[in-house]
Amino acid sequence: MTKTILATGGAGYIGSHICYELLAAGYQVVVLDDFSNSSAESIKRVARLTNGAPVLIKGDVRDAAILDHVFSENRIDAVIHLAGVKAVGESVQNPQKYYDINVSGSVNLFGSMQRHGVSNVVFSSSATVYGIPEISPLTEDMPANPLNPYGQTKLMVENILRDMTAANPHWRSLLLRYFNPVGAHASGQIGEDPNGIPDNLFPYIAMVANKKQPKLNVFGDDYDTADGTCIRDYIHVVDLARGHVKAVDYLLSDRATDNSAEMVNLGTDQGSSVFQVLKAWEAACGFEIPYRIAPRRAGDAPAYYADSRRAKALLGWQAEYDLARMCADHWHWQSKNPDGYGK
Ligand code: NAD
Ligand code: UDP
Repeated sequence: MTKTILATGGAGYIGSHICYELLAAGYQVVVLDDFSNSSAESIKRVARLTNGAPVLIKGDVRDAAILDHVFSENRIDAVIHLAGVKAVGESVQNPQKYYDINVSGSVNLFGSMQRHGVSNVVFSSSATVYGIPEISPLTEDMPANPLNPYGQTKLMVENILRDMTAANPHWRSLLLRYFNPVGAHASGQIGEDPNGIPDNLFPYIAMVANKKQPKLNVFGDDYDTADGTCIRDYIHVVDLARGHVKAVDYLLSDRATDNSAEMVNLGTDQGSSVFQVLKAWEAACGFEIPYRIAPRRAGDAPAYYADSRRAKALLGWQAEYDLARMCADHWHWQSKNPDGYGK
């Protein structure tokens, strides 16, 4: 029988790619999203691309009544919980918003799952929980030390979910720690559509490539790395989305055990510097991306990348796409949709 997955925040950047991959893999999908950082257009496009019929419900994860309605009206087999806010800088300025949406929203969701007997959950956590690591690759058992309220909310929800999974009969959870998701679906129909001027490297370069910003500010070229710029583990959003299908497959199989909450890194295990990313973007676009060296950004870790062996062993997943493909697909989406979904 077809299994049904609830994706909270499913209309967003990562969520829309997950919905695509779930539908392509034969799952039915229910999306709950308040569209505070997305629009229904992404899910309409996913439906068109897959010939699928995802159910789309507008609502806030902090609203218990809407959650109870979603769980009563749909027989949900597993939840992928993506809904939340994610801007590090904003979380420092307005931590209350982050604790409210990310933590209270999650507690509310887990409470509703409990009331409706839904016991499988995948949570969107982040490599940001590791803080500024001294060594890489990062394994899941390395200490967590988030440096900002956003990272704190991710670690808190991991801990809440671990406790709830231990306490509730049949609960199974996966805490997926994403490294740096970038790129877009190969169709160029769905992709990242940030509000305002983005802080992150890929969407900022995309704006420069689209002549919406004059140049990229490279935040520091005097780090102790090969070319002096910071190193991150960029992962194609399609690889990341496929990791979620594997995660749900796993939770719904007899490979998973009840009352288990596993932390799993999702990365490529490869680090790329800002200059390497810039060069890969120039190759993808076929023209130069103007840049200048700017001061370091406060709180930036010099270098880190994942060790994703647990994802391979547990879920049978590993990333397939390289940096060239990430840049090519991100640019394909952005050049076809310079104003995103036009929301
Ligand atoms: P996104 O903003 O595109 O998606 C989040 C979605 O949640 C949006 O559609 C938004 O409208 C929705 N939403 C926000 N608050 C809500 C609420 N109260 N109720 C219901 N819906 C709500 O972001 P994304 O990049 O797709 O990130 C998805 C998840 O992955 C987030 O939890 C984020 O913290 C996590 N994550 C993202 C990254 C990244 O770099 N993009 C890295 C690590 C983890
Ligand atoms: N970065 C940059 N200019 C920008 C945005 C980011 O040089 O306009 C650098 C940033 O200092 C970091 C890397 O690019 O070293 C990745 O930044 P992003 O914000 O995308 O990811 P995060 O730092 O949160 O992992």
